Amino acid sequence: MPREKILIADDEPDVLNLCTRIVCSEGYEVTGVLTGEEAIEAAQRERYDLFLTDMIMPGIRGLETSRIIRTYQPDIVCVLMTGHGTMDTAIQALQLGFSEFVVKPFSTLDLKLAISRALEKERLRRENARLSALIPLFEINKTLMTTVEEGQLARRVLRAACDELGATRGILMLRRTDGRLFVGTSTGFDVEQAQPETISFVLHTAEALLQERQQVLAQTSAGAEARVAEFMRRTQIESFMFSPLLAMDAPVGALVLAKSERGARFAPGDSELLSVLCGQAAIAFQNASLFEQIQRAYQELQELDDMKSEFISIAAHELRTPLAILMGHVELLAEEIEDTQIKARLQIVLRNALRLRGLVDALLDMRHLQTGEAQLEIAPCHISDLIRDAMDDLASMVEAKGIQVLVNVPADLEPVRTDPQKVLLTLSNLIQNAIKFTPQGGRVGVEASVHEDELRVSVWDTGIGIHAEEHERIFLPFYQVEPSLTREHEGIGLGLSIAKGMVERCKGRIWVESEPGQGSRFIFALPLGIDPDPVPAVTGILFSSEDVPGGPSS
Ligand code: ADP
Repeated sequence: MPREKILIADDEPDVLNLCTRIVCSEGYEVTGVLTGEEAIEAAQRERYDLFLTDMIMPGIRGLETSRIIRTYQPDIVCVLMTGHGTMDTAIQALQLGFSEFVVKPFSTLDLKLAISRALEKERLRRENARLSALIPLFEINKTLMTTVEEGQLARRVLRAACDELGATRGILMLRRTDGRLFVGTSTGFDVEQAQPETISFVLHTAEALLQERQQVLAQTSAGAEARVAEFMRRTQIESFMFSPLLAMDAPVGALVLAKSERGARFAPGDSELLSVLCGQAAIAFQNASLFEQIQRAYQELQELDDMKSEFISIAAHELRTPLAILMGHVELLAEEIEDTQIKARLQIVLRNALRLRGLVDALLDMRHLQTGEAQLEIAPCHISDLIRDAMDDLASMVEAKGIQVLVNVPADLEPVRTDPQKVLLTLSNLIQNAIKFTPQGGRVGVEASVHEDELRVSVWDTGIGIHAEEHERIFLPFYQVEPSLTREHEGIGLGLSIAKGMVERCKGRIWVESEPGQGSRFIFALPLGIDPDPVPAVTGILFSSEDVPGGPSS
């Protein structure tokens, strides 16, 4: 750190000598003079950090000398040496801006302390000023970072810049997506009324200055470079400041600030302030643009998702109606026909139509869950009844694969208040999977018991098992572990996501415990009782009388 420079003035050579030695011994760089006039001359030649002066000197006295020196060096710290240690002198010295004073005769320590205290006060004052200058920047930053609309952001940046730098006019230009500059906002320049040539000149000049990516300051047009001088002449401004808006080194825009009043100048430090402000503004503009892109992408995704849901709903609905009619007629035909060969073929048609209806139902169930249309219909239900119903539906599958089924439910299990249809659908999906992914002759089981305040139901099998890293993913819609593997099984990857949706709709949870080759155990836990939905159930939206055989469209 450079040594602080101290100027000492005292008309008594011995005192001056002594002071010089004391101050030098503290490591400061010292200049000693015998009169106020010499002190003023020295201060005109060189910058000092501290002025130590005797009060009474022939010619210009200490107080007046320090006043004059301050006009050259406003930040200099002044310390007074006086033989009149009265309160009045002290007050007068402090009023005149002296930081400290020492009363003659003073000790070495008195002088050292007075000087170090005065310098320390000045350091604190500067630090305080530096921090105070940061406060408006911090406030501006806060505002800018929370603004994501480009137009509003532009107006805020320009207002903050004009306020902080005392500019009366300003133009903020931004880059369009096609790379060209446009006027984002302005103040004091009547852009609406301006001639198109003037606007194009302004943009052209800004574009040219932007190429150099440097700030430009012209306090008068006389000292300015040609294109800036021309800009100032055309727009009738006195002083001009240009700053690029650079985000990750890319120019996203430019800011021009100006003062029009005669003799108006930008203050020292304004350039630094504007650089910081423009740096923050550029980041804020980039954030705003990213935010807009994300919002647009999100909106597009949302629209796509809505279209997908709508498509599933319409497609499933449109399939369900003819399917129901077809199944109704095939069933009737199968009953009526005598020929056993045709009867067997009709059974195949019926089985496949049922399979198709299962898929359509799964798509509709999924959509109902996603759109929140799956309403709760609460009733007391015995889990053993639901397990039996589910097993009955899957009896032919069990038989076809020669699976051994083991059901274990305590006889005294109390009924739970939940939505039986949703629990039945969950059980059906889990048991169907257990059978599907268990080789011929394997075992599948269903167990239920009460654990603290919930009913736990688990469906287990001795099938192929599932790797731990798949345990969460398999509950995602349309997810299947190995397409090549599952392709040999029926299904489109909706069974578990529907089961999860149904269980969660009943305020429960579902998970799996499994390892490859070790079979699987799917467990769901339900509260022993839940309340119905607060709003009345929405009915009749997707299904109507047209859905059943013999309905209006048959
Ligand atoms: P789908 O059965 O129609 O393929 P699911 O959503 O019911 O769809 O299941 C998703 C995937 O989870 C299945 O494709 C399968 O890979 C795996 N899976 C589900 N249940 C079992 C099970 N009991 N044993 C092994 N894998 C299973």
